[in-house]
Amino acid sequence: MHEMSLCEGVLQVIEDSAAAQKFSQVKTVWLELGRFACVEPEAMRFSFDVVMKGTLADGAKLELIDLPANVWCLSCSKHIDIEQRYDACPSCGDYQLQISGGEEMRIKQLEVE
Ligand SMILES: [Zn+2]
Repeated sequence: MHEMSLCEGVLQVIEDSAAAQKFSQVKTVWLELGRFACVEPEAMRFSFDVVMKGTLADGAKLELIDLPANVWCLSCSKHIDIEQRYDACPSCGDYQLQISGGEEMRIKQLEVE
């Protein structure tokens, strides 16, 4: 389960921002998750609660934002959004797709006190 280490990374970012922006408590974390990031939302929420325990984000709410999976189709020569990693291009049916987005995970916003 790599969600645990992802949450540790999130905590690191929160602690760095807390030091820079002088806040002491986090109430909500908005986290953008690419559809190719292979993250289980339920596992993510569970890990989040465990990792944040006893930190400045203890009890914080986790809001997950689903980012579309973006690929570059070689046949169409354009960027398109697809639902699944191994989907064919929805406009030409080709499988010559290069992933150009959807693997990222980043904190979009923090609600702090
Ligand atoms: Zn195409």
